[in-house]
Amino acid sequence: MNEKTTDLSFFKKGLLKWFKNNDRPLPWKGEKNPYYIWLSEIILQQTRVEQGLPYFEKFKRHFPTIKKLADASEDTVMKLWEGLGYYSRARNLHATAKFITYNLDGIFPTTHEEILKLKGVGPYTAAAIASFAYGLPYAVVDGNVYRVLSRVFGIETPIDSTPGKKQFAQLADQLLAKRTAGVYNQAIMDFGATQCTPANPNCTICPFQKKCVALASDRISSLPVKSKKLKKRERYFNYLLIKCGDTILLHKRTEKDIWQNLYDFPLIEATTLLSKEELVATDFFEGLLENTAYEFTKRSKPFKQLLTHQKIIAVFNEISLKKLPKSIPSLFIPVNQKNIPKFAFPKIIDWYLKDKSLYLELF
Ligand code: SF4
Repeated sequence: MNEKTTDLSFFKKGLLKWFKNNDRPLPWKGEKNPYYIWLSEIILQQTRVEQGLPYFEKFKRHFPTIKKLADASEDTVMKLWEGLGYYSRARNLHATAKFITYNLDGIFPTTHEEILKLKGVGPYTAAAIASFAYGLPYAVVDGNVYRVLSRVFGIETPIDSTPGKKQFAQLADQLLAKRTAGVYNQAIMDFGATQCTPANPNCTICPFQKKCVALASDRISSLPVKSKKLKKRERYFNYLLIKCGDTILLHKRTEKDIWQNLYDFPLIEATTLLSKEELVATDFFEGLLENTAYEFTKRSKPFKQLLTHQKIIAVFNEISLKKLPKSIPSLFIPVNQKNIPKFAFPKIIDWYLKDKSLYLELF
């Protein structure tokens, strides 16, 4: 970056002018209630605006106050969150609502320092809440901001390195319009989301066309720089859909793993997808269906779901029983099949439940 500190004012001016003509009308814009701002920011973490919007409306409708959210059951919160992914956000949202309601007398914290202490709130979300709700001078730094700043100023320091994080945070702080921090933060986020997009940024009508280092040096596609490439771990889920008449066995995922507190089916995780013979030979199968007559009826084709660090490959094996086993381990819940829609499932199971008529094959 060659710009001197004193030369940085072009950025703030250009950005705020751009924002005047390009402000996207969104339901949380101009909102001053810190509860709704917090809700929208948690929903929008790692989520596109179009995807998050209906969830924001739904949560606001079900829980118009933070106390209503605090007093909801965990299953209700998870069911409303279903399909949005990154479920730890929903658990933290619920825990923080309880904390604010019962430990802070229902009053949302008013300082950046106190907001940052809330569970599930990192520096980005804290800066967004502090600036939008209270006008406090804290700059947001998220993927949009990394992209815009790295391109305009030609910064090649990797954004996922400690020096990179420090450098971008310092620059963001220097650039911030301190007296109108909320508007400035909203502007840079919108600019990154709609103008300086990851692919095909709209450079022809960009206010930084003459200043942008990436444009001048043909480095748009290589900025921002990331040092680590994520290698996804592959996991193979062999699900057993154990049915007896109208009853099916569900399982609540209580372990510290993906999809915590969502529901799935009895699961055999292995290093590959297992055949019927391999399933039957597992200790799990034997332990669950010991001395019970069973029949494999259907098997789905593999379903795949990509998570940030993992790739899940799942196959659903339907097994029919005449009678349920005498003793069912407590982690499995017999449920009437017509009640299945009441439970919150991971996406891959929703896909299977919705599409299974198309995919089921006989063994
Ligand atoms: S000129 Fe293009 S790359 Fe540079 S800030 Fe504008 S939109 Fe982004």
